Amino acid sequence: MPSPKSYHFTLPKSKRPGEVSLNEPWYPGVQPYWPTCTTKRSVDPIMGITTVVIHATAGGSSAGAISVMKKPTDAASFHWLVPDEDEDQHGELVWACVPEALAAWHVRNAASHPDVNDGARRVNHWSLGIEVVNKQELDPFSPWQVEITARIVRHCWAKYPNLAHVVSHAKLDPDRRTDPGTLFDWERFKHLVLNGEADAIPVAVASAKPLSELPASEALGCCHT
Ligand SMILES: [Zn+2]
Repeated sequence: MPSPKSYHFTLPKSKRPGEVSLNEPWYPGVQPYWPTCTTKRSVDPIMGITTVVIHATAGGSSAGAISVMKKPTDAASFHWLVPDEDEDQHGELVWACVPEALAAWHVRNAASHPDVNDGARRVNHWSLGIEVVNKQELDPFSPWQVEITARIVRHCWAKYPNLAHVVSHAKLDPDRRTDPGTLFDWERFKHLVLNGEADAIPVAVASAKPLSELPASEALGCCHT
C-alpha cells in the first residue's frame, strides 16, 4: 500500500479541461468566521494558484470539520469539504467553506516539500485545500468521495491557469500528518483527475457562489492543521 507521504502528481498543461461545473453551496453559517480563519493571499488569487492540497478530517462529520473554523484561537480552514457517506449531502454536493480568493489555513506555514512549488513555504497562500470527511485508520472512503474530490480538482484546473500540483497534506508535512491516509485510493483519484471521467458524475444543478466575497483579515495567520 503506498504511503500518503508519497501522494503527489502534476497536471500537464496539454490536458487542462474546459469549465467543469461543481455543486458547491456555502456551508451554512460560515461567513462570519472568515475574518478569523483566513488571510489575504500574498499572490495573485488566480495566476498565483499552483497547488491543491488533499486532506482528510480524522473525524466523522462535516459539522465537526467546520467547528475548527469557529475556534477563537488556533482556527483552521479549507476551501471545500466533501461529506461522508452517512451524511445527507453525500452524492449531492460539496460544501464551499472559504472563498477561493482568500488563503485558507490548512497547512502550517513552516511546511514545504522541494517537489512542490520549488519548496516554497507558506503553502496556504498559493494553494487550495480540500477536506474529505473520513475518520481515518480503518474508515474506507466511498467511491463518490474519491470521484467528487477529483472533480473539484478538475474544476480548479479549469479555473486556475498555473495549477500544476496535486499533493497530500502528508507529503507537505510528513512528520506531523498522514492525511488523507492509506485508504484514500490515490491511483484511482489521479486517473480520474487526469482523464476527466468524474466530470460525468450527475450532480444537482450547480449553484453560483455570491460575487461579493468578504475581505480577509490582514493579520498573518498561523496554520495549526
Ligand atoms: Zn490535513
